[in-house]
Amino acid sequence: MAYAIALLPGDGIGPEVVAEATRVLARVVLLSGGEVELELEAFEAGADAWRRTGEAMSDATFASCSSADAMLLGAFGLPDVRHPDGREAGSDAMFRLRFDLDLYAGIRPIKLYQGSPTPLADVGAGIDYVVVRENVEGVYAGRHGGSRVVGEVAADTSIVTRSGTTRIVREAFELAARRSGAAADGVSRVTSVDKANVLASYAFFREVANGVAASYPDIAFDTLYVDAVALHLVRSPSSFDVLVTENMFGDILSDLGAATVGGLGVAPSADVGNDHAVFQATHGSAPDIAGTGVANPLATILSAGMMLDWLGRRNDDVASLRAARWIEAAVAEAIRTGTASTPDLGGAVGTTACCDAVLAALDAIVGAA
Ligand code: NAD
Repeated sequence: MAYAIALLPGDGIGPEVVAEATRVLARVVLLSGGEVELELEAFEAGADAWRRTGEAMSDATFASCSSADAMLLGAFGLPDVRHPDGREAGSDAMFRLRFDLDLYAGIRPIKLYQGSPTPLADVGAGIDYVVVRENVEGVYAGRHGGSRVVGEVAADTSIVTRSGTTRIVREAFELAARRSGAAADGVSRVTSVDKANVLASYAFFREVANGVAASYPDIAFDTLYVDAVALHLVRSPSSFDVLVTENMFGDILSDLGAATVGGLGVAPSADVGNDHAVFQATHGSAPDIAGTGVANPLATILSAGMMLDWLGRRNDDVASLRAARWIEAAVAEAIRTGTASTPDLGGAVGTTACCDAVLAALDAIVGAA
C-alpha cells in the first residue's frame, strides 16, 4: 500500500533529524522489496517560516498536511522568535495541527533500551511504559483565552470535558490491551493521573476515568496524584504500563520519564486523532546544538517507526507493521552495541554516523530474517 507522508522538518535540529529518519524510511522501503511504498513531500513551517512569511504554517501547507496519510515532524520553534505578547510564534504551527486536526492523544513511550544510560541507581525489572497525554484540553486549551488584568493578575482556565476524557482514557485502555503489561509483573494496567484532591476539573477527570475503566474488566486500573507519580517514575518505574493524564501533566511527566531512559534524544512520540496523526520526537529544536552535527536522531527515527505501526494497524497492512518492528529492533541493536552513542548518550558518534549504525543494524536484522 502506498502512503503519502508530509515531512515537516521545522527549526533548529529538526531538519537534521528528519533527514536521518528519511534515510531510514528509504531503507525499509528498499528492504521490503516494494511492499512498503512511501511518497515523501517536505513542507515549510515553524519559527523560520513565520520570520520569513509572517505565518508559522500557511493554509496551503495545512491543507497538504491534512490530506497526507501521516506527518513526520522535526521540531517547531526558536526561543527568540516570539509574538509581541511573549508567546513563541513557531509553536503556532504545532497548535494548529493539534487543535484543528483534533490530535487528541499524545502517545509517549518511555523505554530503557539495553545500553542506554540512566541516572537511576535501580530500574527494577526495567522501564517500559507509555504516557498517554490528553492533547487538546486541560489548561493548555486556554492558550488563546487567558487574561491579564491591569498588569497585575493573569488567569488561565482549564477545560476538562466528559467526551474528551472518555476518549483519551479509552485510548489508554486500547493501548494497554495491545501491550504485554508492566515490566515488573506483566500485568496490563492503566494508571490515571490527576490532582483530584485539589481541583474540581481533576476530580471530574478521575470520575470519568473510573466510569470508562468499568468497561475494561481485564485490565487493571488505578488512580494516583501527579506528585506521587513524579516520585514513583523515579523510584519504581517498572510498575507502570500505561499512564493517562491531562495535557500539562502529560507534557511534564513524559519529559521526566525521558530523563530516566537516556534523555530526549531517545524519546519518540505521536499526536493521534481519529483521522490524522503527527509523529515527532518529544524534544524541541535544540538551537544550542543545531548545525554542530551532534543531534541524536534516534527519537525521530523511532517516531518514524511509530508512524509505520499506526499506518499498518489502520490499514491492516502487515508489511508496514513489520517495517515498524524492524526500525525499533534496529535502533535497540545500535544502542546496545554503542554504535549509535551520540554525546547525549555518553558517546562521541555524530548524527549521520548514528543513523548509519541504525541502517547497518536494519540490514543485518532483515538479512537474518
Ligand atoms: P529542547 O528539547 O529543544 O532542548 C532541551 C535540551 O535537550 C537542550 O540542551 C538540547 O540540546 C537537548 N536536546 C534536545 N534534543 C536533542 C537531541 N535530539 N540530541 C541531543 N540533544 C538534544 O527544548 P528547549 O530548549 O526548551 O526548546 C527549544 C525550542 O524548541 C523552543 O523554541 C521550544 O518552544 C521548541 N520546542 C518544540 C517542540 C516541538 O516542536 N514539539 C517541543 C519542545 C520544544
